[in-house]
Amino acid sequence: MQRTRHAAPVKHRAKFPWRALRLTVLGFILVLTGLGAWLSKARTASWQRPLWVAIYPINADASDASTRYIASLGDEAFAPIDAFFAREAARYGVALTGPVETHLYAALAERPPELRPNSGALASIWWSLKLRYWAWRVTHERKETTPDVQVFVLYHDPERTESVPHSLGLEKGMLGVVYAFAARRATAPNGIVIAHELMHTLGATDKYDPATDEPRYPEGYADPERKPLLPQVRAEIMAGRMVLSRSDWEMPESLNAVVVGAQSAREIHWQP
Ligand SMILES: [Zn+2]
Repeated sequence: MQRTRHAAPVKHRAKFPWRALRLTVLGFILVLTGLGAWLSKARTASWQRPLWVAIYPINADASDASTRYIASLGDEAFAPIDAFFAREAARYGVALTGPVETHLYAALAERPPELRPNSGALASIWWSLKLRYWAWRVTHERKETTPDVQVFVLYHDPERTESVPHSLGLEKGMLGVVYAFAARRATAPNGIVIAHELMHTLGATDKYDPATDEPRYPEGYADPERKPLLPQVRAEIMAGRMVLSRSDWEMPESLNAVVVGAQSAREIHWQP
């Protein structure tokens, strides 16, 4: 198979400048999506009005468990996310009483394009463009209100899938892709992941060591002034875990034990 590929007539290929055309198209898309992202960021970063967040459930493994779980979802499954943002924004003196409003939208049948592990920088850029195009393509003809932020939640049957890839939130593009489990006991932890990715779309950065998941001190601690410092009893949203001892950090059970730390608050323009 390798040989046929090498034997392809290079002369014919050179006739039309596909590569140049591809780069031009890529350039156009970059400019257009960059502009769109800048506009949506300018609209959302001021906290003058609530942020409208659309949640699109996706049955990621075509399982009955995911189908049943998605059918059981209502707005109340995501209400703790709204309550979390309301509580934390009030601590930072944000005037809006409900800064984030999640809305459950109808399920999507299609999965988003995936980034292969260990992809290079160019492949990552290409994939992020494909993802943004995909998000536009699967939602632009729908009748629902155009949201400020789109969160695609891919549900997996925990009986069939033990671990899921890292979720992600794209600041440029105002969209998040969340890998979640389709089980009632996973609803609260799923909410933490959704809130984390939502924070990314607003400009917040991670506050943990990617090699070990250990929260960074002090910005990744919910209570960096606590005495004694350990164990921490709450987690910072962009660290995602609370440090219990020098060698142990765990995800809290729900957003009730999660805060927005001072640095994250600055990053999303909650304080100067
Ligand atoms: Zn993150």
